[in-house]
Amino acid sequence: NGDIRLQYQISHFGEGDRLLVARDITRLVRLEQTRQDFVANASHELRTPLTVIRGYLETFLDQDLPRPLARGMNQMQQQARRMESLVTDLLLLSRLEASQHISDEHPIFVQSLIRQMHEDAQALSMDRGHSFVVEVDSNYDLLGQENELQSAFSNLVFNAVRYTPDNGTITLRWWADTEGGHFSVTDDGIGIEPMHIPRLTERFYRIDESRSSASGGTGLGLAIVKHVLVRHDGHLTIDSTPGEGSTFTCHFPPDMVVPVRDAD
Ligand code: ADP
Repeated sequence: NGDIRLQYQISHFGEGDRLLVARDITRLVRLEQTRQDFVANASHELRTPLTVIRGYLETFLDQDLPRPLARGMNQMQQQARRMESLVTDLLLLSRLEASQHISDEHPIFVQSLIRQMHEDAQALSMDRGHSFVVEVDSNYDLLGQENELQSAFSNLVFNAVRYTPDNGTITLRWWADTEGGHFSVTDDGIGIEPMHIPRLTERFYRIDESRSSASGGTGLGLAIVKHVLVRHDGHLTIDSTPGEGSTFTCHFPPDMVVPVRDAD
């Protein structure tokens, strides 16, 4: 719309001299906007045909089919589900990218959010024998957008289940201190080589493509976590030792942490 976007950088020199550099980033901003709009529209448009395909597949699979046909249909159904997850995550990511801050915030009952997450993780783990430890400081809650935080936290918890071998231990923690509120997920799984850590929140960045795809992830989970945290003025830290496990921690500033209200 004719707006010009400039990016300024000020450098300081010894005797109080300063150098101001202005960069015209109008084109870059427009290109980024076009990319975001395209992804949002494409994911939206893909949704309807996918729902139709899935509906027909379900109807066919309800019938008594010859075995090779049933096997093929099952494969199609699995892939259609995978595509649906991808489209859902792409759409969510493009909505998150559309603005840098949540529009309104509400108190989130962290205890019940984590309880729900714990149940979902147990269901995902099924018969893989994972143990779960939950440590929640019940004096503090968090301000924010519940559905976004739920997506972010569950991505971390589901990753822990995916990347931890059978019988491993997964710990969920929530606590508050003078620096703010913190939610962490620790696993004793495969761990991550240090060189990969800075790139993990990029879209579709995967360490081991075959393992990640087989585990059912979309490759967008940590990008979603990062954007949700940015929108809550927070950030993500990742500590990991290959072969020993990883801790992913979401940090929130003190003004997003509130004392739990009495139940009365
Ligand atoms: P994906 O859907 O592939 O899991 P994510 O964005 O959630 O995508 O994660 C990016 C990559 O980070 C994964 O493919 C995996 O290689 C690595 N990763 C994420 N969580 C863990 C974890 N808890 N332990 C080891 N590796 C992990």
